[in-house]
Amino acid sequence: MVNKVLVHWLEETVQEISKRNLTEITLSTGKTPSGHVHIGILREIIICDALRRIFEKKGVNVSFYLFMDDFDAAKRFPYYIDENYQKSNLGKPFALIPCPYEDCGCESYAYHFGNELISTFKHFGIKNEVKWSYNLYQKREMQDKIKIALENTNRIKEILKKYILPTLDNDRKEQFNDMQKTWIPVMAICGKCNKIQERAKDGSIQPNRAIEYLKKEQMVIYKCPACGYQGRTSIYSG
Ligand SMILES: [Zn+2]
Ligand SMILES: [Zn+2]
Repeated sequence: MVNKVLVHWLEETVQEISKRNLTEITLSTGKTPSGHVHIGILREIIICDALRRIFEKKGVNVSFYLFMDDFDAAKRFPYYIDENYQKSNLGKPFALIPCPYEDCGCESYAYHFGNELISTFKHFGIKNEVKWSYNLYQKREMQDKIKIALENTNRIKEILKKYILPTLDNDRKEQFNDMQKTWIPVMAICGKCNKIQERAKDGSIQPNRAIEYLKKEQMVIYKCPACGYQGRTSIYSG
């Protein structure tokens, strides 16, 4: 019975996609490697992989990407991570946090837990291409996109205002308008403490958002909310 239901909704999804008569399909999903990965994350990976198998059989060219978001900052750590270790690494991107286990030899915290998930794929026959987000930001194509965003800050603000503002209550509207006055669509990694955000005393997250874009120099200026360091960084520095 269970199988029947599963086959039914997957077939329905296949039919919906088939209607578009595509010769190429891109499937993608993602995960932040913040610790041992919960088995629940396999749900979307297996759905994508099932679609990949079906469409490959039909002769469609399928790309299936798994984005490991190791540029995401550590907002909290799981209970099994040493407390002092947690304190010194909160707010850093997972790619810049060392592996928490001695003699493990991993390049980063992100690689330790990300690769643990990836190592299970062969047992399920899952075939995908893993993209590490921190690496993507080292690429010229991504950096050029950052430049486009910085040069179109006002247009982005207009779009946010149009779509986000109507969904907020009055208090949050005021907060949003206040924030928009100085908002720039880029955050920076602090050159001193490696953090991109800080948790304030009231529990709110304060991102290390750029405070000024120097167009000619293609640099942003920031003031780190975690350590107070004021620095500048090139948008081509990754
Ligand atoms: Zn490790
Ligand atoms: Zn800092």
